[in-house]
Amino acid sequence: MAPMHGESLMAAVPSARPLGSTALRMLLGNQLAPHFGRNDPPRLAWYTCPMHDAIARVPDPINEPVLGYGPGSAERAKLKEALAAIDAGSIEIPCVVGGERVHTGKLRDVVMPHRHKHVVARFHAATDEVAERAIKASLAARREWSAMRWESRAAVLLRAAELLAGPWRARMNAATMHGQSKTAHQAEIDSACELIDFWRFNVHFAQELYRQQPNSSPGVWNSMELRALEGFVFALTPFNFTAIAGNLPTAPALMGNTVVWKPAETQVLAAWQIFLLLEEAGLPPGVINFIPGLPHGSTNLLLDHPQFAALHFTGSTDVFRMMWRRVAENLDKYRSYPRLVGETGGKDFVIAHPSADPKGLIVGLVRGAFEYQGQKCSAASRAYIPQSLWKQIQPELVETIESLKVGDVSDFSNFMGAVIKQGAFDKHTAAIAEAKATNGMKVVAGGTTDGREGWFVRPTLITTENPSVRHTVDEFFGPILTAHIYPDGAWQETLELVDRTSPYALTGAVFSRDRQAIVEATTALRDAAGNFYINDKPTGAVVGQQPFGGARASGTDDKAGSHLNLLRFVAARTIKETFVSPTDWRYAFLDKP
Ligand code: NAD
Repeated sequence: MAPMHGESLMAAVPSARPLGSTALRMLLGNQLAPHFGRNDPPRLAWYTCPMHDAIARVPDPINEPVLGYGPGSAERAKLKEALAAIDAGSIEIPCVVGGERVHTGKLRDVVMPHRHKHVVARFHAATDEVAERAIKASLAARREWSAMRWESRAAVLLRAAELLAGPWRARMNAATMHGQSKTAHQAEIDSACELIDFWRFNVHFAQELYRQQPNSSPGVWNSMELRALEGFVFALTPFNFTAIAGNLPTAPALMGNTVVWKPAETQVLAAWQIFLLLEEAGLPPGVINFIPGLPHGSTNLLLDHPQFAALHFTGSTDVFRMMWRRVAENLDKYRSYPRLVGETGGKDFVIAHPSADPKGLIVGLVRGAFEYQGQKCSAASRAYIPQSLWKQIQPELVETIESLKVGDVSDFSNFMGAVIKQGAFDKHTAAIAEAKATNGMKVVAGGTTDGREGWFVRPTLITTENPSVRHTVDEFFGPILTAHIYPDGAWQETLELVDRTSPYALTGAVFSRDRQAIVEATTALRDAAGNFYINDKPTGAVVGQQPFGGARASGTDDKAGSHLNLLRFVAARTIKETFVSPTDWRYAFLDKP
């Protein structure tokens, strides 16, 4: 398969930065391929990988075990130390373009949401000029990176995964805890385990994709390569998952693309750790360019570029739609049709059947709605509970919610931290006040907020007689769960209600011990959720086990953490080689009888 570079199989190698052409010439002199003259660019594919006479098999991926952080454990001690280090000082974070640190002087504060007067970092916000340089740097790096054999690219991510599983774990988790107000457990399952899983599993999925080859008839060799897209990828990442911030730029990079990455302003502390870790893992300069704080209006600069090849976005629905519109307007400008991958908002549901196990339902609601302050795209924010079951569970559910401790995440006895920023705090305060003032709505647990030290919102349970209030339709993205109590006999009608109430279709769960009811819910809600759970909370998808993503207003459903996602960032090329070319143009049917 001589014509193919990145996609042929070979052994994974330890990461190595590819040499620049000058260094390469000094090292190899005239040993460069004989048909290349002195001024020709060196052919890269054969030197970037020291071992190519092998069909590689990447290590079988396994999900990273979740550490417990119990009292007296080694991981707890290391995490406390890393938290204290962040507490003790404030760091300065630059943009990085083509490997070069860029200090724009436009400094912006990063604060702890649970102690919002505490500035943990200041970052140099990108400007239009930096964004333009980032595009140029990614296009310049593309040639070498996309020509590099895929196993070498994979090795960078495998090394990153091992670094994160080991020496970088505590500092990444600590940055996520203090920067995004996650508890130790929430940080562990996100910034350590999920990100490690993304890197290990994506490498495995890439191998599976490259392995798919067409059949060949006698005398012919058909093959298919998955080329990097022609241009650069723009990765725009949200605040709520460090793992998503790490995955969105690296998944396209694994497939040979180069990337301009703008993390969310409220996630820059951990995003910077990801960037440093990738450098440490051997990611060559320019493959991912880091431009935090680019003003929102300036993202058009990237979308308007003729070589804009793909958007890898996770965030709110409105922002994605706005960018899609922009891309549509630009269609005539582009070299290729850009790929638009967007995982967006949700209004995730839990529906209980009268046969549901009450204890399981309570735990599903509490964990599903309030872990990480309800700031998971998958968090339960509307529930449908039959009257008979509501009577049974209400006292314990309310008592459990009232017992949840909210506060500074460096105090490990807290179950929840603060919401991410003042705007989110104000939005939740207003939504609770609105419920209190609306006929037919009742705040049955929580319902208070306190923004003096940190942006704290108590986990709040609201009941509503009207199932179509704003609280069951709009995404608030915080610790507010609105429940509609339905008559036991109205199961079928309630399934329809769940399906049509909100424009989103991300996650949902049914609780029931009656198999027929489970089948009915799974069928009736087929289009209402991209991730559907039976007798479990609607959060906590694991890479390699429950590929994640939703449809309708929740996104393009390209399932992060699966081969489907990687496929969006390649352009296939089919190659047919005929070993002996025909020498007569005439076909047999033309012959005279
Ligand atoms: P967001 O849309 O506010 O921000 C996402 C990114 O877009 C950030 O980098 C932000 O700086 C940028 N951005 C925001 N407004 C912009 C604008 N007008 N122009 C250009 N860029 C802009 O989202 P967020 O608050 O960071 O994250 C929460 C949202 O993400 C929720 O809606 C949640 O449901 C969604 N989310 C979805 C998934 C999923 O898999 N479906 C996963 C996580 C989060």
